[in-house]
Amino acid sequence: MTAPMLEMRNVVVDFDGFKAINDLSLSIESGSMTVVIGPNGAGKSTMCDSIIGRVRPTSGKVLFHGREIQAEAEHSIVGLGICRKFQTPGVLVALSVIDNLTIAATRDRRWWTKFGRKGEAEARSRAEEILETVGLAPRRDALAGNLSHGEKQWLEIGMVVATDAELLLLDEPTAGMGAAESTQTAEIVKALVGKHAVLVIDHDIDFVSQLGGHVVVLHQGQLLREGTLEQIRADEEVAAIYLGR
Ligand code: ADP
Ligand code: MG
Repeated sequence: MTAPMLEMRNVVVDFDGFKAINDLSLSIESGSMTVVIGPNGAGKSTMCDSIIGRVRPTSGKVLFHGREIQAEAEHSIVGLGICRKFQTPGVLVALSVIDNLTIAATRDRRWWTKFGRKGEAEARSRAEEILETVGLAPRRDALAGNLSHGEKQWLEIGMVVATDAELLLLDEPTAGMGAAESTQTAEIVKALVGKHAVLVIDHDIDFVSQLGGHVVVLHQGQLLREGTLEQIRADEEVAAIYLGR
């Protein structure tokens, strides 16, 4: 049996006696979509942080293709093929959309090993492709600082995609978006699945239903339930705790 792409095994993250993550085990397969939901403070962002190496698990393991990464530095985890988008967009405001994407693509060190000095041209052509993927072709030469909030979020998704990471972590990609923008975000995210595995954190149930991935419910740092959104919706305990029914 081959190891799952990503596996969290009994992960605990203890902040001075408070367990933000409390014995969490979870597997993610290549090319899949996992959607993590849960109330505020459930530990969703901390879970992401512990995968990417920003927060060290107090105990437990994080394995990427069977290799332990829970003690690795964030930059080396990114180098292995896991990349994360934060809740707040972090684009380079004084540069154009295409330049932001090109810089992000250049961060994929594999371009340099594969193409040597041609790496930059390859990164640019990859950036042109991603421009389409995230629906920003009409804004190609706009300064990132002049984009709308939603467009900035899409640009940042594009920058994560540009690193060609195998696993993309998207923490609340619809934060601050209206319904139409959320729908477009769902389309963008769905198109990434297959080529990438995507872990999406969100608490907007409309958005989650548009994504249609495997849903994991976190509650008090623990995995409360997992399944399809229909199974989750039908679950009495989840309804009581999370959906307020
Ligand atoms: P979510 O993303 O699900 O809203 P978080 O992972 O951000 O939840 O936070 C989970 C809990 O851990 C919260 O109660 C939060 O206050 C706490 N927490 C998060 N980061 C830290 C930290 N660095 N130090 C202490 N407590 C933290
Ligand atoms: Mg969060």
